[in-house]
Amino acid sequence: MIPQTIEEKLLLKKVKPTAMRLMVMEFFEKTKTAVSLRQVEDHFDYSDMTTLYRTLNTFVENKILHTIEDGTGVKKYAKCIQGCECTVDDLHYHFHCIKCEETICLIEKKVKTFELPDGFEMLEANMVVKGTCLNCRH
Ligand SMILES: [Zn+2]
Ligand SMILES: [Zn+2]
Ligand SMILES: [Zn+2]
Repeated sequence: MIPQTIEEKLLLKKVKPTAMRLMVMEFFEKTKTAVSLRQVEDHFDYSDMTTLYRTLNTFVENKILHTIEDGTGVKKYAKCIQGCECTVDDLHYHFHCIKCEETICLIEKKVKTFELPDGFEMLEANMVVKGTCLNCRH
């Protein structure tokens, strides 16, 4: 089944669609870049930070969102693509523009697993490419 509505998308990820969750999900459906907690908060003009934070955590746990550390010191959230299991195989590069400070997922650019020394296991990798995006190049 290919989920069509936001509600279906949440249910597919085993997340009960509450009003708050639907709202946050809708926001991420429309957002093309990675966003910080502060940006989500500003968007909703929402004072109950705890609920918002809990919603984001639930989304990360249920592989709806993944987090990115782009070197700005603030954790960013971005939507997972359909079928993402947030495993090492789903790791992809991110691009951080030093001018507009937007961070985007480069979904097509998979992080190739490379050999670690014996006994080491890769759990996550923060692959962030920095530069200027198309909009900021001129
Ligand atoms: Zn994911
Ligand atoms: Zn830019
Ligand atoms: Zn990403």
